[in-house]
Amino acid sequence: MIPFSPPRIDDKICNAVVEALKSGWITTGPRTKNFEKKITEYCGNKATICLNSATAGLEIMLRWYGVGEGDEVILPAYTYSATANVVVHCGATPVFVDVNANDFNINVTEIEKAITANTKVIMPVDFAGMPCDYEAITKLAITHKNKFTAKSDNQKKLGRILILSDSAHSFGASVGNKKTGSLCDVSVFSFHAVKNLSTAEGGAVALNFNETVFNNEELYKYLCMYTLHGQNKDALAKTQKGNWKYDIVEAGYKCNMTDICAAMGLVELERYDNDTQIKRKFIVESYSALLKADARFQLPLFKDGERISCFHLYPLRINGITSEQRDAIIQEIFNRDVSVNVHFMPVPAMSFYKKMGYDILKYKTAYDNYCREITLPIFYDLTDEQIVTIVKAVIESVNAVLKK
Ligand SMILES: *Cc1c(COP(=O)(O)O)cnc(C)c1O
Repeated sequence: MIPFSPPRIDDKICNAVVEALKSGWITTGPRTKNFEKKITEYCGNKATICLNSATAGLEIMLRWYGVGEGDEVILPAYTYSATANVVVHCGATPVFVDVNANDFNINVTEIEKAITANTKVIMPVDFAGMPCDYEAITKLAITHKNKFTAKSDNQKKLGRILILSDSAHSFGASVGNKKTGSLCDVSVFSFHAVKNLSTAEGGAVALNFNETVFNNEELYKYLCMYTLHGQNKDALAKTQKGNWKYDIVEAGYKCNMTDICAAMGLVELERYDNDTQIKRKFIVESYSALLKADARFQLPLFKDGERISCFHLYPLRINGITSEQRDAIIQEIFNRDVSVNVHFMPVPAMSFYKKMGYDILKYKTAYDNYCREITLPIFYDLTDEQIVTIVKAVIESVNAVLKK
């Protein structure tokens, strides 16, 4: 069976983890701090805090911005449920909007239609690793400044809708010479086991505020405290001689990254551009070269003008099929010992959100994308032979279901 996206666990990763274990410091410490610094250098943003997941990072930033009951957060209908769940956790209302047909990303025209006086945050999602149009989205936030009704101190300071990117897929993607993390106010990366760069579980919040509005370094320090019980000294600081006293400044959260995870992240980051990305690009280009002659397939977009993907997913679409036919094709592919997936089962179609009154049929492009989509495997250890096997399985399965 060809798996979908196993992590790359080699001697380098194992040795780094063992080294962290033997160092005697396993929670947040020097490795996490170093990883944060290296991410900031790589992305070109202003400060970065590593946490235990992207989900925690998104929720922490919503809470920091004072998002709560009566507030609205605009997000795409086509995403993983984490993007919407964090809005619900805060007691705010998720406002789903439809996506583009070409790159699956949130549709900017639809965002504008959804903005109200209650809109506090827009959460774009860089689907499959393709960055959204942050220039246009930030412009919308500025254009609609007059409508914005600030409640919290941080809302008053920014004076407009916050752009909080769900960049769970897009670490290393770029627009021109700028990398994700530096494209809007705040971007949140995921280092979950299936993501491009993995720390088993983990995430990072890339801060990129205009320094005249928020001091990013100060905000970083605040977030370190806020994500560690609201405690004014972390465990490392407390180990210094006689430095045992601490205070709880507020009822904070607990979602810090461990140095064991950061040890994996440091290895992964060092080889990201000149190894991981080269392999992922090769895989997506191989798929596209083998599938492009067949008019039944709609190939994914990895480059568009100045935007370049980081090749997180290969979201293939099949023209003119129903979701039942797609499901049958997936079954045929699995019968040929190849693992595939669907990205995503749209959030408004999930039973919790259906019960809240959302209806997937209102998001026509998201629904059409979902019905026709099959995601092919991408992982570092995928061989040339396996690529050929996967494409053969896909073509045979489409033939079998569409009776060619
Ligand atoms: C994976 C994913 C997340 C959640 O990331 P975690 O690190 O597991 O919390 C959020 N949004 C999207 C679009 C994702 O794919």
